[in-house]
Amino acid sequence: MDTVPPSPSACLQHAGIVLPDGVSRAPLSVRDGRVASAPASRAHRIDLRDHLIFPGLLNAHDHLQVNAVPPLPHDAPFANSYAWIEAFQPHFHDAPVASALRHPKALRLRHGALKNLLAGTTFVVHHDPWHPALDAEDFPVAVLRDAGWSYALGWPAYGPPVPQSFAETPPGQAWMIHLAEGTDEAARSELATLDAMGCLASNCVLVHGVGLRDADIQRIIDVGAAVVWCPSSNLALLGATLDPQPLQEAGCLMLGTDSRLSGARDLLEEMRVALAHSTLTTRQLLALVTTDAARILRLEKRGSLLPGASADMVIVRDGGGDEARCLLAIERSEIRAVVRDGLPRIADPDFAEWFEAAGVEAVPVMLDGRPKLLARNLADPALLAMEQGLEPASSDARPAYDLRMEAQR
Ligand SMILES: [Zn+2]
Repeated sequence: MDTVPPSPSACLQHAGIVLPDGVSRAPLSVRDGRVASAPASRAHRIDLRDHLIFPGLLNAHDHLQVNAVPPLPHDAPFANSYAWIEAFQPHFHDAPVASALRHPKALRLRHGALKNLLAGTTFVVHHDPWHPALDAEDFPVAVLRDAGWSYALGWPAYGPPVPQSFAETPPGQAWMIHLAEGTDEAARSELATLDAMGCLASNCVLVHGVGLRDADIQRIIDVGAAVVWCPSSNLALLGATLDPQPLQEAGCLMLGTDSRLSGARDLLEEMRVALAHSTLTTRQLLALVTTDAARILRLEKRGSLLPGASADMVIVRDGGGDEARCLLAIERSEIRAVVRDGLPRIADPDFAEWFEAAGVEAVPVMLDGRPKLLARNLADPALLAMEQGLEPASSDARPAYDLRMEAQR
C-alpha cells in the first residue's frame, strides 16, 4: 500500500455546480479551504456524477445558545414580540426550560451551530453578545464577527444601547436590531422611531419587519438597508409575516431561522415555509441564503463557489429540473455531504475515503434514522445528546456500513 499523507485538496468531478448565473459542469477544485481555479496535483478526486453542489448556506438570524430550549406553548398570536417575551418569563421556571439552560453556554452555542451545519448552513449571523466559544477553531459554522447590534427598541436593556451601538459601528459593518416584530401600532411605529434617532443607514440589518408599512419598506429600499425575513418565527409568534417581494426585488432581503424557540428546525425548513408564504421562486429563495446575503453582509468569499471563495458546500443528489428545487425538496438527512473550508463535516458513509484523504477523523452516527459520518470533533456525546434525531450509531450498525460500501465498489 502506498503511504500518501492526507491532503486537504480535492477535485469534485462531473457534478452540477450551482453558480450565481447558472450551472457549471467543470470540475470543482478545492485547495487550502478555498475553491481553486485548478486542482492540486495530488488532489483527492471524487466522482460526483448525478449530484449538485451548492454553496454553503447563510443563515442571517439565529440565537445559537437557545436552540435546545422548548418553545413557549400558546394558543393565540401575540401582538408583538415584547408581549411574547413577557409571557415567556414564567416559562423559564418550567423544568424542561431550566434543564436546557443548565448546559454551559459554550455547549449551547455549539449545539446551535451544529443544528445549522447539519442542514447545510455554514455561516450564521448570531444576534447576541460575542462569546469566546464562537472563536474555537473547530466551531461548527463560521459566525459574522465584525458587526454591531442592539436587541430591540422596546427592550433596550438586553443589548448595547441603540444610539451608541449604531454610532460605534463602522459604516462598512452591519448593524443589527430586531425591528417591527409585531402587528400592532407599537411595532408599526418602530422604523420611524429608529429613523428619527438618526440610526437608519445602509448598514442596518432589520430583523423581522412584520409591522413595516409600504412607506417604511420604500424608505428601507431608498436608504439601502436590509431586512431579515424569518417567516416561521413570525407565523408562530404573531400569526403573520411580511410580504417579501418588494424587498427581495430591491436586493434588500435575507432569510433567517431565528432560534428554535420560535422558528423552524433549520434553514431548509425555513426555505420551504418561505416558499409556501410568498410568490418568490425557488431560485430567488436560494439567492436569499447565498448571493444576496453575501452581498448585503459584504462577505466576498461566501455565497458562491467561484474561484477564491470559501470551499463551503452542500452536496445533494440531482433530482433533475430546477436545481434550487432539488435543495428545497429535501430534509437534512438527505443531504449527501456538508463541507466547510474544503473538509467534509457530515456526509453519507460512502464518502469515508474523502474524510480519510482530508485527514478528518469521522465517527458513524444516525441522523433522523439515516447512517452518516460526522467529523469526530463535532461528535461530542454531550452535544449529540442535545440534538433530537442525531445519535451515535449503535455498535451493530458498523458492519452495515461496510457491507453497503462494499456493494458500491
Ligand atoms: Zn431574534
